[in-house]
Amino acid sequence: MNSVITRRKTRPIFVGNVQIGGDAPIVVQSMTDTKTHNIEETLNQINRLANAGCEIIRVAAPTEKDALALKEIVKNSPIPVIADIHFSPRIAFIALESGIHGIRLNPGNINDEGKIREILQECKRKNIAVRLGINSGSLEERLLEKYGFPSGEALAESALNWSEFFEKVGFTNFKVSIKGSDVLQNIQANKIFAEKTDIPLHIGITEAGPAGRGSVKSAVGLGILLYMGIGDTIRVSLTADPEEEVEVAYQILQSLGLRRKGVEIISCPTCGRIEVNLPEVVKKVEDKLKNVKQPLKVAIMGCVVNAIGEAREADIGLACGNKSAILFRNGQPIKRVSEEEMVDELLKEIEKM
Ligand code: SF4
Repeated sequence: MNSVITRRKTRPIFVGNVQIGGDAPIVVQSMTDTKTHNIEETLNQINRLANAGCEIIRVAAPTEKDALALKEIVKNSPIPVIADIHFSPRIAFIALESGIHGIRLNPGNINDEGKIREILQECKRKNIAVRLGINSGSLEERLLEKYGFPSGEALAESALNWSEFFEKVGFTNFKVSIKGSDVLQNIQANKIFAEKTDIPLHIGITEAGPAGRGSVKSAVGLGILLYMGIGDTIRVSLTADPEEEVEVAYQILQSLGLRRKGVEIISCPTCGRIEVNLPEVVKKVEDKLKNVKQPLKVAIMGCVVNAIGEAREADIGLACGNKSAILFRNGQPIKRVSEEEMVDELLKEIEKM
């Protein structure tokens, strides 16, 4: 895999059997949107997400009923489970009894150092990893007064203070997430924090929006951080099916050469030179290959202008021309195919591979 990105050196932690940080690949996470106490629905969604490539799943535990459901969920989940806890130490302690692999805490909304210490001691005893979450919405009064508003510096300072607190009470099995209200604030906060510690970072653009806009916003924010080498695990937050979050996360990582999964389609935007219905060909190929898990680069180009160069980069592809195309594999032309048969011929060749 070609990547020019030098990743920040971080200390590794484990959420269940999944390593985050150190030399591990960047881990893709998502979050269920079912009611956690509906165990069957939640597990069905976790299974679908795991199939889509999700490597760690977070589930909300807003009530005692949800926390009590975790045991059964953890027992049957194919991937490690993180319980998302806000406000209530009592619910945190119930979750810690369930066998969960990780817990997400925002100390800012628990706001009780004694309780946080107790939770960390229990996590240490049970080898449960913690995600220390810092959000612009729950920043300490003192920092709001100092900075006037939840700036990137204020968020980074809060994250550094809480990390120091965790370490002081002897707890090191944690990663940090810093979520600002906009992309630039996020980038600034993560950058400041990353320069000062080797603690692994969970990155994401919170409340990014619906699938289209949210994907663009996430790609920009996460893309810049990842390019700087920052980020050990990511979640793309979309107002959409969580499976789309996983798909977009991989596309972002793939476009930076940080992970490869499934089919990557390289296709041209088309122009006045086009002599086949390229959008239709691309759509058909994309649909047919959507369940392929192995990394595969497929180039589908409208004409020969850029096709030769792209062919060299791709595993397989089509260089279209006048109602026909040249099918190529590993940079070498194999045969000429008509417009009607090009999709089937391409798929046949992929099958052979
Ligand atoms: S590959 Fe050919 S058809 Fe596609 S945009 Fe470029 S010049 Fe136009």
